[in-house]
Amino acid sequence: MNKKPDSAGLDNAGAGTRAVWGGEQVRHPYNATQAPIVLSAAYGYDDIDVWYDVAMGIAPGFIYSRMSNPTVETLEAKIGELEKAESAVAFSSGMAAISSVLYTFLAQGDRVVSTKDSYGGTNKIFEEFLPRTGVEVTLCETFDHEAIEREIARGCQVVYLETPTNPTLKILDIQRLVAAAKRVGALVVADNTFATPLNQNPLALGVDVVIHSATKFLSGHGDVLGGLVCGSEALMAKVRHYREINGATLDPLSAYMIIRGMKTLVLRMRQQQHSARALAEFLCTEPLVASVNYPGLADHPNHAVACAQMGGFGAIVSFVLVGGMDSVKLLLPRLRFAHCAGNLGAVETIYGPARTTSHVENTLEERQALGISEGLVRVSVGIEDTDDLLDDLKQAFAFVRGLRDDKSQQPAFSEGVN
Ligand SMILES: *Cc1c(COP(=O)(O)O)cnc(C)c1O
Repeated sequence: MNKKPDSAGLDNAGAGTRAVWGGEQVRHPYNATQAPIVLSAAYGYDDIDVWYDVAMGIAPGFIYSRMSNPTVETLEAKIGELEKAESAVAFSSGMAAISSVLYTFLAQGDRVVSTKDSYGGTNKIFEEFLPRTGVEVTLCETFDHEAIEREIARGCQVVYLETPTNPTLKILDIQRLVAAAKRVGALVVADNTFATPLNQNPLALGVDVVIHSATKFLSGHGDVLGGLVCGSEALMAKVRHYREINGATLDPLSAYMIIRGMKTLVLRMRQQQHSARALAEFLCTEPLVASVNYPGLADHPNHAVACAQMGGFGAIVSFVLVGGMDSVKLLLPRLRFAHCAGNLGAVETIYGPARTTSHVENTLEERQALGISEGLVRVSVGIEDTDDLLDDLKQAFAFVRGLRDDKSQQPAFSEGVN
């Protein structure tokens, strides 16, 4: 693959241009305009000396697809452009990326500081897997920046941040916590899945390693799993070595699907977060909603920090329904333009309670300890027309309110009906 002769680089290009052209200002084999899906497990060499040089990393080329693959490298270059990172490493899922980063940089006797609100799978690594390798894990209250700073100041090797959080959309002040981490020489890792590179570039705020579940907004169509890690070449060399040996490599077909999805990231996100705001504002007026979480709302507790560090507020809204799980069971099946499912970030709108989505790995007691109520519903707003999504939600609420009114008149109506 040769660079196009007139390739001007993307240094001054906007996010939409980077998403389309990142990693693809090249002439592909056969003059193909689209990245080839190279399914080959290995790459053949007639000249043993050239083979040796490639294997040693002295000459460019490929040896074996667990180590590197042309399609996967195109994807890595694309996310590198979007996060303005020196280097990137792709994994078979977001969790493969997260666990590989944590195991790359933490060893027995080390300490990691993070928050109670993190993706359910990440929380399980902190609670179940890291402690048994002799890593001390401290999880702080997500809203309490002083407590997080205090724990960081006690000394740690890694500070792990996720902002906005899933599913309660709390916001961490990245620059403030990076400053605390730098004082003790800790590496800062941030899960940027919810914000996407369009809305937030943590590397520019001082973070060392950025992680994405590409399964979500980056691929955007709910049909592929993948994880991406970005940072300096020195740090990514370590992460790439871990992947090479532990083997959670992304397959080339999935890499291609993520590449294709990423080209429309900016268009999709603009529409999705426009509708997300409209839905959040409507939910604030609905009597059956006890509370609404969206960082773009002026009364969000960290709205000012969100305004300072984010270019947009994202396409996820969550809310707590009056009546808890009973109301959830009535409302969700009434929605016409929505999947009730466990993923997010797709072109379709997706609703799901925390119990069966972000925190399916956790017990009821664990969810309660994390402040996740049984009536909490997460909405991943899709690219449908805003008015259709609003009308859909309104008719579903009208139905549930009707049932509740009936029930107050007819005591025989069972709470369990759905
Ligand atoms: C989904 C998700 C993950 C895990 O990604 P997978 O691709 O499902 O393994 C990690 N972090 C966040 C914030 C997520 O939403």
